[in-house]
Amino acid sequence: MTPQIISSDVVIIGAGIAGLWLHNRLNQMGFHAILLENDTIGNAQTLSSQGIIHGGAKYALNGILSKATQAIGDMPARWQACLAGKGDVDLTGVKILAKHQLMWSKDKLSSKLLSFFASKALASRMQTVPKSERPNLFQHADFKGTLYQLDEPVLDILSVLKCLAKPYKERILQYPKDWPITWHHEGKTIQSIQLGDDTIIKAQHFVLTAGEGIEEILRTLNFSKPDMQRRPLQMVLCKAKDKNNSLPAIYAHSLGSGSKPIATISSHADDGGNIIWYIGGNIAEEGMNKPISQLSAEAEKLLAEIMPWYKLPELLWAGHSVNRAEPKQSSLTRPDSAFVDSKHNVHIAWPTKLALAPDLADQVIKQLTKQNLQPKTHKTTIKLSPAVIGETLWNTAFK
Ligand SMILES: Cc1cc2nc3c(=O)[nH]c(=O)nc-3n(C[C@H](O)[C@H](O)[C@H](O)COP(=O)(O)OP(=O)(O)OC[C@H]3O[C@@H](n4cnc5c(N)ncnc54)[C@H](O)[C@@H]3O)c2cc1C
Repeated sequence: MTPQIISSDVVIIGAGIAGLWLHNRLNQMGFHAILLENDTIGNAQTLSSQGIIHGGAKYALNGILSKATQAIGDMPARWQACLAGKGDVDLTGVKILAKHQLMWSKDKLSSKLLSFFASKALASRMQTVPKSERPNLFQHADFKGTLYQLDEPVLDILSVLKCLAKPYKERILQYPKDWPITWHHEGKTIQSIQLGDDTIIKAQHFVLTAGEGIEEILRTLNFSKPDMQRRPLQMVLCKAKDKNNSLPAIYAHSLGSGSKPIATISSHADDGGNIIWYIGGNIAEEGMNKPISQLSAEAEKLLAEIMPWYKLPELLWAGHSVNRAEPKQSSLTRPDSAFVDSKHNVHIAWPTKLALAPDLADQVIKQLTKQNLQPKTHKTTIKLSPAVIGETLWNTAFK
């Protein structure tokens, strides 16, 4: 079979949040950018995420403003501008699940941590919530701890994907997973990518935003670096057996004495309107490979410990195992910021957080501009199928 030969300015591989954000930016800037996906849009980490647009407060629980806290600090404002239609990409159609992520401690916090949270550096990012403004769950007379409101919205990720995929959807294409990738070089510069026997796409630049899939793509390029790390999780999902006695919607980190939240809960509705608590944090980090019977027993105990005043309804449980894919760090720690590494005209990019997608796009665009990317005219009919958006967990996890 003779492959169709098409051309573009930039080919981006992987349609999670990183690829979609960058794809929007480049096309808006007048470049022709094609986004390739070999599954469904968002299916991997992005649709597994809790949708919290972190501003870094949870990384300051050890009382230190780390590099990570500073790098991510600008992100909520960047996203807020997009949500208001005044930012880099148009997110005006996005459903905001909560304007603020909350953070509560069951007991009084140490005076050292209290004064750190009240310090100039953090006071703009987190405020205590007066009793009269607390959500119902935290109005209970037996809740004696502290409740903070963070400057971090929580978004419905399916609606984020829909907004990002819409403007240039004819340039987001799906190719089958079993098609091998071949690269055509001229010296060290990549001229084109070949997908199976079917399609050759010529471009000035190639950006890899394929999350966990980057490792395999680097192998097809014969690149030994950068190394990737996987940090596995088993997230916990629960919902009331009786939807008339549904869980309350909360978006909150529970603080213990350690430097990480004990649990992070976001809330999502299934098709019948029943609220699902999607629980991350330590329980998910330590939960991989545990059978759901064990994980749910541990989660139920944990919920009773962190909100002893709340009587849980009878619950249904599910687990969701997923890997976070990131540039390799010593001792499997979390990277500090979005990562971009350029090897000639191939750019390897992991956002490391959904919230950092704007930062990742900035970094890639800076690199492409430095390498003199030029908009060219491309009159091509592309025969690949359009990619479709993946499914959320809220209806599939309990099946
Ligand atoms: C459980 C969980 C909760 C999280 N919660 C949050 C949160 O609340 N806030 C936050 O800021 N961050 C959060 N994160 C992190 C965040 O989700 C990720 O950093 C981000 O989604 C990564 O986006 P990505 O586009 O790089 O990768 P992905 O979303 O993994 O997308 C990669 C895409 O590439 C495609 N692909 C792979 N191989 C190929 C190939 N060969 N060809 C074509 N396409 C390919 C995949 O199918 C996929 O669509 C969370 C992560 C997890 C796992």
